Amino acid sequence: MSELTIANGWWEKNHISPSKLSTWTDCQMKFWFRYVQGLRKPPKIWLPQGTAVHIGVEDLLEDLPKGNLKPLEEYTFRAREQWEQECAKSGVYTGKGDLMTGEALERAFDDAMYWLQGFYDAVKDGGLIDGFDVREVTETEIDAIREVKWPGGWDLGELYVRGKIDWVVATDGPVARLADLKTASPSFGWDPSKAHSQVQATAYGFLTGKPTTFDYIVIPKESKYTKSGNLRDNPKKATPYRIATKRHEFHYEMLMHQLRDFVLLSDVHNDYANFHPFPNHTPGKWGSWCGHLCDFQAECRKMHGM
Ligand code: SF4
Repeated sequence: MSELTIANGWWEKNHISPSKLSTWTDCQMKFWFRYVQGLRKPPKIWLPQGTAVHIGVEDLLEDLPKGNLKPLEEYTFRAREQWEQECAKSGVYTGKGDLMTGEALERAFDDAMYWLQGFYDAVKDGGLIDGFDVREVTETEIDAIREVKWPGGWDLGELYVRGKIDWVVATDGPVARLADLKTASPSFGWDPSKAHSQVQATAYGFLTGKPTTFDYIVIPKESKYTKSGNLRDNPKKATPYRIATKRHEFHYEMLMHQLRDFVLLSDVHNDYANFHPFPNHTPGKWGSWCGHLCDFQAECRKMHGM
């Protein structure tokens, strides 16, 4: 069992998740739209493929250490249930704003289960993912929290780092071991520099209160289908790979400074009353307002008189 502190209850304003912090780091104006104004946009080309894969993998990780691995199909049932629930919530739209057809959705689910199969094939029969043994995962989806103890002289109020850790391997030794499952484009996948730059790994490492190895296990989103929806003759296998990173005091100190800036500039303890965000605007290509991936382009452009 982990030595992590399990979070109880609702999220409060002073609970800072890795995604909140990385939105803050990316653009304060984006943070303002999302977390202060509470604007949420219905995603356009969003598919719950990652969620479906996570559910299948979670069930698989329950059985694997007990030597009780079932046929792959058994791990697709709950994934299918979750998929249907998620799709039914708000509908799934194409990039042109049209409702996605049943056939297209079915192909998307089929692809997600193809990624699950890549994971299944890699770990069955004792397989390791670049040396990572998924049988060592002891807990999944742990909602952990840790209060920030400010260094002497920093009187910055009560603040907590909180987040849901995908996989806990061990936290009782001198170095904790955590991991996270990702699905990623085969062309723009993960490499060490991307993994090392993740606020997520630093924040989750901080939750353990000790040096932490943080492994990203990435399943490439290979498709069984061509763009026109036909089955490929020989689709590439979705074989997962591992990117290992480490977090320690140096990173936690940087996190502390990042959190200090956040508290001071956002005025979070005063319900954001004196928060005056500025846009971290970088002009995009072909006349687009901003090159950042951001749901609030239209609002931001309007606000700046564009
Ligand atoms: S469009 Fe760009 S500048 Fe505006 S909120 Fe989004 S990321 Fe920030």
